[in-house]
Amino acid sequence: MTCLSAQFRQFGGPEVIEWVEGEIPAPGPGEVLIEHSAIGLNFIDTYHRTGLYPIELPSGLGLEAAGRIIALGDGVTGFEAGDRVAYMGPGLGAYATHRVMPADALYKLPGDIPDDTAAAAILKAATVEALIERCAHVKPGDIVLVHAAAGGVGLLMVQWLKAIGAQVIGTVSSQAKADIAFAAGCDHVIRYDRDEIAPGVRELTDGAGVPVVFDGVGKDTFVASLDSLSPRGLLVSFGNASGPVEGVNLGTLAQKGSLFVTRPTLFHYYASPEDRALGIARVWSMLGSGKVEMTIGQTYPLLEAAQAHRDLEARKTTGSTVLIP
Ligand code: NDP
Repeated sequence: MTCLSAQFRQFGGPEVIEWVEGEIPAPGPGEVLIEHSAIGLNFIDTYHRTGLYPIELPSGLGLEAAGRIIALGDGVTGFEAGDRVAYMGPGLGAYATHRVMPADALYKLPGDIPDDTAAAAILKAATVEALIERCAHVKPGDIVLVHAAAGGVGLLMVQWLKAIGAQVIGTVSSQAKADIAFAAGCDHVIRYDRDEIAPGVRELTDGAGVPVVFDGVGKDTFVASLDSLSPRGLLVSFGNASGPVEGVNLGTLAQKGSLFVTRPTLFHYYASPEDRALGIARVWSMLGSGKVEMTIGQTYPLLEAAQAHRDLEARKTTGSTVLIP
């Protein structure tokens, strides 16, 4: 049996993704070999592929996957062959049939969490947990603006916010996506392909604005996000789906209401083993309770990862996307 994995040797479009066949790797000390059953697609994979987030080349691709342990290296404790596990980094290389990972990067899957749910959710749901609960400290009753509400992170975020008693205004680019965002629990949806965001938010909040905006869209929504905030409100700018935010004049934050802006990345909120254990326990509990349901909008065979990237970047996907080896 051999291992198939994605690699790319230059930054560029989806066509730079190549497939390499090789021996199945053996785990070293402290490592395990995983046979993947499902791999999560994330927008960050496109940033790695294009070089927006610089990495050394050649490189593998993909941060999150789920599967079954098939071999253990020396010194690994707490796991055995056959265990179902998932991970969300470190390092790129999840687009593969098999992967060697450090045992301390793995999370055992609870019995009620299927592999594809775990692969689709672990990085995105952990992001949502960290941003809502430990970054923005959203409180019951807060009205929160969530951009790209029908996307992978977006749908999880809407449900999580509703589960903790917040009200949610979502933005989406089509009526089909608006229907999906409403079904996930959005109280209001703004079609930002058609309507202005900030005036819409003001209208929905009697002119007050919202205390928190979650913005994974970046360049195209940055100004509208600031303009939607109430005085001393917080913009959580956590992604660049439309391109990175650049050239910010700090004085703007004063003029628009002594605003706060943070540009968080998940890994700083999951830096210590204690943070990781607490965060993931909360993720499994929210998914297990049914308050937050994973929406796998589409699956692709692993070898069609390039097409999955095209569809994600063309805004054709909804919810989360899973690649199946
Ligand atoms: P999504 O499934 O949300 O896909 C991105 C969505 O962004 C699209 O569906 C689209 O929704 C919207 N969008 C707006 N403008 C554009 C554009 N010009 N090109 C493409 N899409 C656009 O992706 P993910 O759930 O994987 O990720 C969502 C965001 O979360 C990303 O920015 C990602 O980088 C970020 N993220 C950040 C993390 C962190 O640690 N900071 C961790 C994980 C994710 P619509 O058509 O409705 O506009």
